[in-house]
Amino acid sequence: MDDRPAWNRVLLKCSGEALMGDGAFGIDFKTLERIAGDIAEVRALGVQVAVVVGGGNLFRGVKTAASGMDRASADQMGMLATVMNGLALADALQRGGAPAVCMSAIPMTSVCPTYTRRDAVAALETGQVMISSGGTGNPFFTTDTAAALRAAELGCDLLAKGTQVDGVYSADPKTNPDAVRLETISHSDALARGISVMDTAAIALTQENRIPVMVFDLHRKGGFAAALTGRGRSSTITVG
Ligand code: UDP
Repeated sequence: MDDRPAWNRVLLKCSGEALMGDGAFGIDFKTLERIAGDIAEVRALGVQVAVVVGGGNLFRGVKTAASGMDRASADQMGMLATVMNGLALADALQRGGAPAVCMSAIPMTSVCPTYTRRDAVAALETGQVMISSGGTGNPFFTTDTAAALRAAELGCDLLAKGTQVDGVYSADPKTNPDAVRLETISHSDALARGISVMDTAAIALTQENRIPVMVFDLHRKGGFAAALTGRGRSSTITVG
């Protein structure tokens, strides 16, 4: 059986929370290495992989702003948190033998290269895993929106959204026993039904740019490759 996925270039959205493992804060290095291994597995299948990494395991701007801090400054701290995660993920990939580069949307050239579309495409075309950190570089956005933006500008065929559940549900399956798993849903239905798998701006951006979004469980070892090759459980927000 040909196990090669149908996708040429995929953008993975890896939340900061996924890197915590069972912990409540920070990076669990076993989990980090497992996720790096899952990404390397997909790269080995011949897929170009771009990653947008979140920062919620370290810092969330909106939460801190609620305690009185200026929102823009709090968001800048959040974006810096994503750079720490990006550096850790690139390091774990490299240690595992997969070439990887972490770029930052916020220039900090003594730490890592600044993200440019040209350099990101060049990295992908030479087989490196390209990790885009620093979000969009602007406050008042999320890394989901950064993922949709990067997927569009890098010409990705798919945005793979790694979550804690194996697809899109009609309601939160953790709190609602009546939640039903949806195999596919259109972008407009996801927006109309308030499906909270990604924020509205991110879904709208993928809709406008006709990018499907595959939602899969990032906590299951091998789940990324399984979802891309149709062997695992996932849901897809389809282009109508
Ligand atoms: N952030 C931002 N602009 C962006 C992306 C992220 O200001 O374009 C900040 C924001 O404060 C956010 C934090 O970075 O709370 C971490 O990102 P996010 O909450 O999206 O991380 P995740 O939930 O994926 O771990």
